Amino acid sequence: MRLVLLGPPGAGKGTQATTIAEEFGIVHVATGDIFRGNVGQGTDLGMQAKAYMDRGELVPDQVVIAMVIDRLAEPDAASGFLLDGFPRTVPQAEALEVVLQERDQPLDAVVRFNVSEEELLARLEGRREEEGRTDDDSEVIRKRLVEYRTKTAPLESFYAERGLLHDVDAIGTVEEVSERTLKLLRRLGTS
Ligand code: ADP
Repeated sequence: MRLVLLGPPGAGKGTQATTIAEEFGIVHVATGDIFRGNVGQGTDLGMQAKAYMDRGELVPDQVVIAMVIDRLAEPDAASGFLLDGFPRTVPQAEALEVVLQERDQPLDAVVRFNVSEEELLARLEGRREEEGRTDDDSEVIRKRLVEYRTKTAPLESFYAERGLLHDVDAIGTVEEVSERTLKLLRRLGTS
């Protein structure tokens, strides 16, 4: 199974991604986690990404695309993967489509998590207190939501046109949202 998770920051993609990846035995590729790992280790990639992340801006497409394509070429991604935080722009989605077409391994589904902006702000403020992420301060959060609306939301129609977009109501407990997501994916897997 090859999946993309779509949804604004705070929609719960990361949490749900872990459950889905385990359930289907596929690799979970989270671009934000890869960047944070690189920042922590002080690599070149980390240094390039950090300034953008701290401002709540997207890292430039060419950097992210190269990183994800490399990751998907690893042997463990051959039997399926779940992308969490990528693609985030139309050029990223186009690059992914080309690579997967070349491999004759198209996406099976794109799952969009729906949450109201009010709920997102409340969740992101809560996360800042719990995790102390430097990109979770109010100004940066607002910037990330604007980046989502302007650059990532257009992917919804990109994937809807391809018949790949599926919605999950992401309001409720983590377990409720997991249940809805797994139910959808099982249905898609058997149809
Ligand atoms: P969130 O869960 O809040 O959406 P992530 O952990 O996915 O955050 O990403 C954190 C930051 O990493 C983003 O704000 C952005 O700067 C950078 N980033 C992650 N994925 C991408 C991507 N596909 N394109 C550009 N920047 C990215």
